[in-house]
Amino acid sequence: MALFKCTQCGEKFIALDIEYCATAFSMPQPCPKCGSIRTRPVSLFGKLTEGIYRLSRFLVGIGI
Ligand SMILES: [Zn+2]
Repeated sequence: MALFKCTQCGEKFIALDIEYCATAFSMPQPCPKCGSIRTRPVSLFGKLTEGIYRLSRFLVGIGI
């Protein structure tokens, strides 16, 4: 279980932290309040996770 924060509406919620293909990367959890998947885990590694998340979003955004 992990604490997630919705970057869309700011809602914080507890969700099952599902590991993606047995890596340390967490799948985005849909926000229970607004349904957005623009959420991210809040943890000791939140800053690092956010950085990786934003980098991956950027790479997808520019088509890599
Ligand atoms: Zn939300």
